[in-house]
Amino acid sequence: MQATLTFLGTGTSMGVPTLGCDCAVCVSAVASSPGLPAPSPHNRRTRPSVLVRWEGHNVVIDTGPDFHAQAIAAGIHRLDAVLYTHGHADHVLGMDDLRPLSFHNSPSLPLYADEQTALTIERIFNYTFSSDHQYPTRARVALHRIPTTPGAEVELFGVQFLRVPVTHGRQTITGFRFGSAAYLTDLSDLHPESLPLLADLDILILDALRREPHPTHSHLEKSIALVEQLAPRRAFFTHISHGLDHDATNATLPPHMRLAYDGLQLAFEIGPEAA
Ligand SMILES: [Zn+2]
Ligand SMILES: [Zn+2]
Ligand SMILES: [Zn+2]
Repeated sequence: MQATLTFLGTGTSMGVPTLGCDCAVCVSAVASSPGLPAPSPHNRRTRPSVLVRWEGHNVVIDTGPDFHAQAIAAGIHRLDAVLYTHGHADHVLGMDDLRPLSFHNSPSLPLYADEQTALTIERIFNYTFSSDHQYPTRARVALHRIPTTPGAEVELFGVQFLRVPVTHGRQTITGFRFGSAAYLTDLSDLHPESLPLLADLDILILDALRREPHPTHSHLEKSIALVEQLAPRRAFFTHISHGLDHDATNATLPPHMRLAYDGLQLAFEIGPEAA
C-alpha cells in the first residue's frame, strides 16, 4: 500500500521564528522588508506534527498549538485517528481543535497515547474527559492507552503502528514505526531494545534541534551518526530550532539526509497490499 506522509510542522517547541528573536534565521522566516534579504520560507517552522494518508485514511501524529493552521494548510477535512508521542505542550495543546473534526466520527475519534501522556491530556483538557463536565460541544474523542512495551501495536485500518520507545531527556516517550517509515521526534537517545524496530527503513524521521548538544534533544552531528547507524534509505530531520538555516544546513548534509520543512510530502510503502 502506498502512503503519503506530510510534515505539518517541523519546528521546535518555540517555533521559528522564535518570538522576540531577530537572528538571521528568524528574520528570514517571515516576509522580507526593504533592505533585507529575500525570505526563506523553509525557515518558517511550526510545531512538530505529521499527517499519514493511505487509501483514504488520515492519521495525525501529535496535535500541537499550530494544529488549526496546519490542518487548513494540509486540507484536512476528516481524521480517522490521532497518535501522541508525549505530553509536552508543543505536541498536545491543539487537541481541542479536533472538536469540529471529531463531530464527523461515530461514535468518537480515537486517540492513542501511553499512560503518562494520556494522564497529561486528561488533566489539561479536563472538561473533555471528565464525566462531571457535560460541555455540549466538547471533542468527541476516546483516549486509548498504548502499552509501554517496545513494539506494542496500534492497528489502524490494516496498518500496524508500532511503539518505538525513545529517550527524551529523563523521560521515555513514544516514537512510531509504520510500514517502511519511522517517526522519532523529541529524542535524545535510542533505546537498545528499539533497534530491531528500526531495521530496513525507507524513511527515518528524527529530531535534530541545532548544532550544539542539548540535554533533551539530539543535535545535528548526533542525528547524522544515528542515521549512519540505522542505515535507512532516506532520513529527514525535524523539531528544528532557529539554530539551523534550511538551505545552508542542507548544503552540508549527505544527499540522503535532509532537513524537513513544513508542507514537505513523502511517498512510501506502508504495508502489504490490501487483500
Ligand atoms: Zn517537542
Ligand atoms: Zn532566532
Ligand atoms: Zn518534548
